[in-house]
Amino acid sequence: MKNKKMLRIRISGIVIAILVLLLVIYGCFVQIRENLENEMQKTLRDVAAQNVIAVEKEVTDKYYLLQGVSREITELPDKPKQVLTNLQAFVDVYGFKRIGIVYPNGVAYTTDGYIQNIAFRDFVKQGLSGKSMITDALEDAIGDTPERINVISVPIYAKDSSGVIGVLFATYRTEQFQTSLNVESFDGLGYSYIIQKDGNIIVASEEAPLHGQTNSFTNIMAYDEGNPQALEKMITDVQTGKSGTVHYQYYGARDAYYTPLTIMDGDVEWYIITAVPSQVLKNRLEPVMKIVIALLIFIVAVAALSIFLYIYSYRKAQKELLRLAYEDPITKGDNFVCFKEKLARKNMVSGYLIAMDLNEFKIINNTCGVSTGDEALRRMWEIFQEGISSEELVSRVNADRFILFLSEDTKENIEKRILQFSVEISALSEELNVPRIHPSFGIYHLTNVETIENAYSHAIQAKHLVKGLRDRILAFYDEVDSEQVIQNRKMEDAFDDAIKEQQFEVWYQPKYSVDGSSVVGAEALVRWRTPEGSYLSPGKFIPLFEKNGMISTLDEYVFTEVCRQQKEWETTGRRMIPVSVNISRASLYYANIVERYQNILKEFELDPTYVQLEITESATIDNSNISRLISDFHDAGFWLLLDDFGNGYSSLATLNVMHFDTLKLDKSLIDYIGDKNGETLLYYVTKLAQNLGFLVTAEGVETEEQVAFLQEVECNDIQGYYFSKPLPLSDYEKLLSASGAS
Ligand code: C2E
Ligand code: MG
Ligand code: MG
Repeated sequence: MKNKKMLRIRISGIVIAILVLLLVIYGCFVQIRENLENEMQKTLRDVAAQNVIAVEKEVTDKYYLLQGVSREITELPDKPKQVLTNLQAFVDVYGFKRIGIVYPNGVAYTTDGYIQNIAFRDFVKQGLSGKSMITDALEDAIGDTPERINVISVPIYAKDSSGVIGVLFATYRTEQFQTSLNVESFDGLGYSYIIQKDGNIIVASEEAPLHGQTNSFTNIMAYDEGNPQALEKMITDVQTGKSGTVHYQYYGARDAYYTPLTIMDGDVEWYIITAVPSQVLKNRLEPVMKIVIALLIFIVAVAALSIFLYIYSYRKAQKELLRLAYEDPITKGDNFVCFKEKLARKNMVSGYLIAMDLNEFKIINNTCGVSTGDEALRRMWEIFQEGISSEELVSRVNADRFILFLSEDTKENIEKRILQFSVEISALSEELNVPRIHPSFGIYHLTNVETIENAYSHAIQAKHLVKGLRDRILAFYDEVDSEQVIQNRKMEDAFDDAIKEQQFEVWYQPKYSVDGSSVVGAEALVRWRTPEGSYLSPGKFIPLFEKNGMISTLDEYVFTEVCRQQKEWETTGRRMIPVSVNISRASLYYANIVERYQNILKEFELDPTYVQLEITESATIDNSNISRLISDFHDAGFWLLLDDFGNGYSSLATLNVMHFDTLKLDKSLIDYIGDKNGETLLYYVTKLAQNLGFLVTAEGVETEEQVAFLQEVECNDIQGYYFSKPLPLSDYEKLLSASGAS
């Protein structure tokens, strides 16, 4: 939930950042557009200003020329030929078409030789009435080459200034105005008009869409109906002598700047309009637009891609996290966390929770390698997986521990299914060529009221009841003696301190020569003296420590204590007799046990013959490595005793295969003494062992009768209450002193 919220917040963050970026880019674009527009307006104004200067200069120069000339003509000659010949020089220099003098009767005499009445011309009328002017573009009425002309005219005054005696005029080709109006900016798309205040076009540059006798105002107004206010403003501005800009439609959008022309000392009020199709702005904007759009597309694409990649990698990481959180690395099935969640989700389940592990799984890892161990775990998981329904669950907890939920409703059904699992799992030994795989199952009936952890710990407690047993593989929780469980937990918790505080005492049970005359050795037997002062017998804690692995620490501790004691006795000059210490099966699984024990001996500089090792027969059955261990121990100089021979698992074959040095007959065999068959068995076992090179020690000898029989069969040594119970160190030392072993 929290993750999803975070994801949403992050994506929103990215989206907002992108929107801001887009907005900034859009803002920049608007700014660029505005700048370009302003620049265009400015260029329009500049162009118009240039035109104004050019046109004003063009007309004014000529006007002043005519004025100058007119002042020189103080009277009109009858035949103006001479005057006209003189004026021809100005025609050539100023590029006029002609210069002419109009007489009051309207007859004009021109430099190009025409004499024609042009009284109808407005400029003639104006000139005769004393006004100078420049005409609009006119169709030339003189000569045979009709073309568009403008005429500048000034009155000619009498010498005594009594009145106007004629008009001097210069004809100017309109196309020459056009060259002054050419607009070079705007990629050749700009153009200008010179108009009169009423909108009539005097002259237009070549590129202009309107020419001739047209009225620019009415033309544009007629076309652009959509924008009357702007055009009316222009018309008013023009009439009141103001400059300004206008945007209008005339075969496409256009922008124009209009400004007055002041010529002929303000006598003539013309306007110049410089226009450009708005397309020019568009053309200028287009490359910028393209870049902006490309940039926007790029940013959106990058943003989309990064959001996609972000979501993709987030999902992937989340998947991987889920996998790590819920998948068991070895079986690739559910792990314990997943199991618990799935079971919790089932709500109100009825069924059984089962804890399982293998007896001495370490052997597989130690002897066949970890990868074979992992393979065995995988195969076990497959067996469970194939054997459960979709309603049921299985997972590996850790190491060789598995947990199952089976939705059976009777104990009988559960037992049947577990036995089936057990058969298949045991068969793995052969399939994978590994030492015996022997599972133990603890079963707890789920009641729905407690936590899964609690239920699992109950199942584990049930499993402990059968752990290490050969004849039982499963137990139900209701068989658990909870008092014992609590006791065990207390002992486990107290173990480390007990070792540190030397609460484990070594007691010695002497071994006697068969005639009972001398002490020939002793067995070291551990006792736990609790802080309260009471003694715990090994039967209470050894099986527990064998199950939980603490035994190897304890065995090593006892071995070390015995070494220390023997060394002390050796240094104090006592007669040395061997003391045997017990090594539990679980201790034997430690790969370097021989080396470790050897190192302890070295530490005390003790001869290995003084500390013998007792290994139970059951260990020889379980640990396939035992032959190698025996020979390693032998190589290190140890004397080995086969303990508890005859206690349930006896195999005479062991004697032939396992090369121990001493055979210890278990009390259960000694107890046969008095029974004929039993005695026969005991006789042959003793003889067989001795023939194979063993010494034979009888354990648990309590009666005189037993001692007598053992003397008869020539057993080597005797250990038992008959001669002595296990003794605390001080008592044993006393015994040694008394028996002359000092
Ligand atoms: P075990 O090695 O077979 O030791 C002999 C057990 O028989 C001892 O019991 C001893 O006290 C008892 N016993 C000796 N003579 C008689 C007798 O005449 N009658 C009877 N009823 N019992 C007799 P304990 O000391 O209770 O030890 C029990 C077992 O605990 C030992 O059996 C041994 O397997 C284990 N054990 C004791 N100390 C250690 C130890 O330091 N390390 C390991 N791994 N196991 C130990
Ligand atoms: Mg023993
Ligand atoms: Mg024994």
